[in-house]
Amino acid sequence: MDLNTIYTELIIQHSQNSHNKRQLPIADFKERGHNPSCGDDITLEIKLRDNIIEDASYTGVGCAISQASTSIMIDLIKGKSKEEALDMVETFLAMIKKDITDEEELEKLEDAIAMKNISNMPARVKCAVLAWHTLKEIIK
Ligand SMILES: [Zn+2]
Repeated sequence: MDLNTIYTELIIQHSQNSHNKRQLPIADFKERGHNPSCGDDITLEIKLRDNIIEDASYTGVGCAISQASTSIMIDLIKGKSKEEALDMVETFLAMIKKDITDEEELEKLEDAIAMKNISNMPARVKCAVLAWHTLKEIIK
């Protein structure tokens, strides 16, 4: 299995696995993200304790890319500080824009690195970055 196949598998798995797709009992932040060009419409929920993202989830509808990207992001940011999460958002957005191509620098994105090849599919870029932009709005 080559790396691209593994990435594709990861995206399919996350788009089908809905463990992050739920409502939080008590959410400190709720932010809606909408991508009209595809119809992706998600609401991200965050529970903070002190400065740490204690829990996160999403609800909504969208294509496999947007759902997978949201789910992967949620797995990644749980237990992280707001600053760490923001750093991941910036790194992810830079990866999609091809501003960062260095694999070592991208390692902190863990599974989210699977979205790397989306940068070669301009029509899907907005699907991939939707959740990350939404998270950035919350943190700011
Ligand atoms: Zn989409």
